[in-house]
Amino acid sequence: MLGKINIAIDGPAGAGKSTVARMVAEHLSFLYIDTGAMYRTLTYSALKNNVDVNNGSDLEKLLNNIKIEIINEGTGQKVLLNNEDITPNIRTGEVNKLVPHVASHEAVRVEMVKRQKTLASSGNAILDGRDIGTHVLPNAQVKIFLTASVDERANRRHEEQVKKGMHSNLEELKMEIAKRDELDTTREIAPLCKAKDAIELDTTFLTIEEVVWTIINLVKKPIS
Ligand code: C5P
Repeated sequence: MLGKINIAIDGPAGAGKSTVARMVAEHLSFLYIDTGAMYRTLTYSALKNNVDVNNGSDLEKLLNNIKIEIINEGTGQKVLLNNEDITPNIRTGEVNKLVPHVASHEAVRVEMVKRQKTLASSGNAILDGRDIGTHVLPNAQVKIFLTASVDERANRRHEEQVKKGMHSNLEELKMEIAKRDELDTTREIAPLCKAKDAIELDTTFLTIEEVVWTIINLVKKPIS
């Protein structure tokens, strides 16, 4: 591998981005940054403080007053909001539903992108989200766009939740994922889309290991 590099992974909800990014980061000893967790934390904070998710300037004020930390540990991560561990609170049905609205405001995105660029500035970082290859790390050496059918993504989420002993309804998951895709791809500011120079990997029929090794091999390929 030549010098320090950054990896951008984008794609719709439930395509396996975070699982894959975490494994690649572990293999390469890279820093992993889950940018979705940052938007989720702001959403949770807005709910807690009765801030309207449709009011961009109130959300901006709230964001400017909160500290978001993502701590990676082994196979999982801890999310801290002003030093308080809120890890389970950012993956509720309510946050899932509201987060694309919070993420649609320009002022929110400008501040988030600034924080994400700072976190990745030392290089050897892997970020996953919706706008990493297009806005956060437009010069990333490796860009991946992960996809899978809505049915496959919902099935994976369903199995994951059942395994954790959580309540899960497959049909509701399909609807929620499809709705979030629609909001994320049609918003005006930095919508979810594949960067021109990203490699698209449809993971519907691939194992996690196959996706992970495809990315690692791309990173290890000498840069010409
Ligand atoms: O990746 P995850 O599903 O946790 O992201 C939650 C939501 O945060 C997405 O549906 C999207 O609305 C928003 N998001 C975003 N840009 C990112 C990461 C996430 O708009 N870079």
